[in-house]
Amino acid sequence: MHPAMSHVFCFGLLLLIILDPHTLPQCHAATDTLSPSQELAGRDKLVSLNGRVALLGFFQTGSNFSNGTPKWYLGIWFHTVPKFTPVWVANAENPIANLTACKLVLTRDGNLAVHHQATTVWSTKANAATNTTVAALLDSGNLVLRSGSGASNSSIFFWQSYDHPTDTVLQGGKIGWNNSTGLNRRLVSRKNAVDQTPGMYSYELSGHNGDTSIVSMFNSSKQYWSSGEWGGQYFSNIPESVGQKWLSLQFTSNKEEQYVQYAIEDPTVLSRGIMDVSGQMKVLLWFEGSSQDWQAVYTAPKSQCDVHATCGPFTVCSDVPSPSCSCMKGYSIRSPQDWELGDRSAGCARNTPLYCNNNSNSSAADGETDKFYPMTSVQLPADARNVATATTADECSLACLGSCSCTAYSYDQGACSVWHDKLLNVRQQGNGVLHLRLAAKEVSSSKTNRRGLIIGVAVGASTAALGLIFLLMIWMRKKKQYGDDTQGGMGIIAFRYADLQSATKKFSEKLGAGSFGSVFKGSLSDSTAIAVKRLDGVRQGEKQFRAEVSSTGVVQHVNLVKLIGFCCQGDKRLLVYEYMPNGSLDHHLFQSNALVLDWTTRYKIALGVARGLAYLHSSCRDCIIHCDIKPENILLDGSFTPKVADFGMAKLLGRDFSQVVTTMRGTIGYLAPEWISGTAITSKVDVYSYGMVLLEIVSGSRKSSKQSSSQDGVHEGYFPVRVARSLVEGDVASLVDAKLLGEANLEEVERVCKVACWCIQDDEFDRPTMSEVVQFLECLSEVETPPVPRLLQAIAGQSNPKMM
Ligand code: ADP
Ligand code: MG
Repeated sequence: MHPAMSHVFCFGLLLLIILDPHTLPQCHAATDTLSPSQELAGRDKLVSLNGRVALLGFFQTGSNFSNGTPKWYLGIWFHTVPKFTPVWVANAENPIANLTACKLVLTRDGNLAVHHQATTVWSTKANAATNTTVAALLDSGNLVLRSGSGASNSSIFFWQSYDHPTDTVLQGGKIGWNNSTGLNRRLVSRKNAVDQTPGMYSYELSGHNGDTSIVSMFNSSKQYWSSGEWGGQYFSNIPESVGQKWLSLQFTSNKEEQYVQYAIEDPTVLSRGIMDVSGQMKVLLWFEGSSQDWQAVYTAPKSQCDVHATCGPFTVCSDVPSPSCSCMKGYSIRSPQDWELGDRSAGCARNTPLYCNNNSNSSAADGETDKFYPMTSVQLPADARNVATATTADECSLACLGSCSCTAYSYDQGACSVWHDKLLNVRQQGNGVLHLRLAAKEVSSSKTNRRGLIIGVAVGASTAALGLIFLLMIWMRKKKQYGDDTQGGMGIIAFRYADLQSATKKFSEKLGAGSFGSVFKGSLSDSTAIAVKRLDGVRQGEKQFRAEVSSTGVVQHVNLVKLIGFCCQGDKRLLVYEYMPNGSLDHHLFQSNALVLDWTTRYKIALGVARGLAYLHSSCRDCIIHCDIKPENILLDGSFTPKVADFGMAKLLGRDFSQVVTTMRGTIGYLAPEWISGTAITSKVDVYSYGMVLLEIVSGSRKSSKQSSSQDGVHEGYFPVRVARSLVEGDVASLVDAKLLGEANLEEVERVCKVACWCIQDDEFDRPTMSEVVQFLECLSEVETPPVPRLLQAIAGQSNPKMM
């Protein structure tokens, strides 16, 4: 029977049940409650009091199972939604084949259990303080086990289905854990649209105290999505999840519990959050009378192709026009039935076995061999291995042919990547070319003529062994490289110097240099691009250095450059960071040949840097003062998300900068006045420098931090002072970078200028904290017009500047 049909049918039966004293003796009052003397069997149901949301009973999920037999589950589903929608399942891992001998009862020890003849199919296994418990289905969709005696407090639950969610969370339900009981509520996808067995994807809370985020995991091991950390209002990667009409996410953290909940403003709309079979978390709403289907108001990740292995191995995922999965050339769907039901974990299978696997005893001269089929404009698969020794496309293809488990290669600008076994996460609309290995006859339009082919095969055979050696070397090297991971903790890799030497091609491509050394571009064996910083003048010993690196590595935030690893060998000290393709902010702001950053991007950068600093100052374990905020230390990733670099450097290098001028750190022009006055340094020095950077973001030139030449006596032109004056006069348009050609949101410009001006106040107590700055820029608080900083005014107005 179709699930929806069975639902309609059950509803009819339900009326009968309510009216039939033999089925549920205590008629009306008992419809939402099961007491010890009762049992729920066959098509009996419990309905919550309001009758809208929740219905508990046995249900069947279609007969289109692989083995043909339908299965029964005890579960909860929406009462008034015509499309059958289960929200909780008791016996997901232990479905029932035959319903006739099945019943839900309260056992003698006060637990709720499903019995099938003499066996227990499922039980609440709770520690009930009394044996007079009752099970009640609340309007929220929560099935609870509580004391049945009227006098006792019925809000104490010995067990509740909300604590054991399957793939769904309802409004009021929690995702997260209880510190004292260790209970962790997480959502786990179902195997497919009908089979309620747990699938591969989960949605759960991760991390503890201060760095909590929500993550989506594949197989409990591979994280493919993160909400970012909670910043007080929202999780950093999903700022859209706050204050929306149809959805807002709230995080609660106290001694007892850490959890997230979602809320929908309109209580009359039915909603559910589900970890979908596809691996996407979705919040869905049911609007009565409209399309008669659930409407998604939130999905994470936004693109289905961002879900790890969403289409399974040997597939291509495409987001446009609509999300879809297709097999790679020469492959077919392995399990069409599962595929239809949304479970694509089996992916696609090769139509023709590879020559390498199948014909090892036949001769190569018969022209049969494996070939490569180029898949153009794709995003390359996950988990590439880099073959450093292959320096041409041909060598790269031979390196792949040399191993029977190699399934594809890609060669780009001197870098050879190969993949073994399953190819996962290939998507359409990329800029890579993947050479897919196929049996020769699968590659129809062969460009090689027969002679070329035979030569190819001969060369191939003789170099196959060589390829194998390559791969063996790579494997051993990789093993070594990742072997010494003990010290870093938190996944920070301890590299050997030789590894970094080869990763950077002997430090040949210099990205830049700063106050601590030079930075070089490199690439790891899995083709992750890295930036390697070679430190000069390190004073620390090995042990101390390692300790500092691991503590710095713990500091993680979307707006801080991520530390991947380090090297500490002899007197060599290197740090390995993720590579930032758009370099540093100074280049984009000040260099005439750079692309002009539009205002929206500038605002995004201002906000991102503020968030990164706010995190450094307050959210992470020990407060870190950066002390050298300037555009050179703000890096930009591929999508111009700003990442603060160089934090923790003073600690790493063992430099004591909390003294006075002799050990002063930082850069002239961005230095707060208290550096000079010799008082103790607080995080407000960063606020000052940040203010200077903001002014440069607005003006697009260095003139804010460098004074204009004093010769022509135009100190009035000193930018920070001009900003302060323009704010008072209400004219900010004149301050904006001319390169923007007037394209800027003046309201935002004004806000940024006001914030900047507050940040550069002489007295550190007048400056806001970085968290306050974030709030100002997010428009969560109003900014007053700041006074003109006195010291700066003095510089602008007279001939004897105290600083600079
Ligand atoms: P220092 O500690 O010596 O000041 P920085 O980390 O500031 O070094 O880096 C110096 C320069 O090198 C930066 O201004 C930037 O141009 C470049 N650089 C540093 N790290 C990276 C990175 N992760 N990706 C790309 N470029 C980088
Ligand atoms: Mg620097």
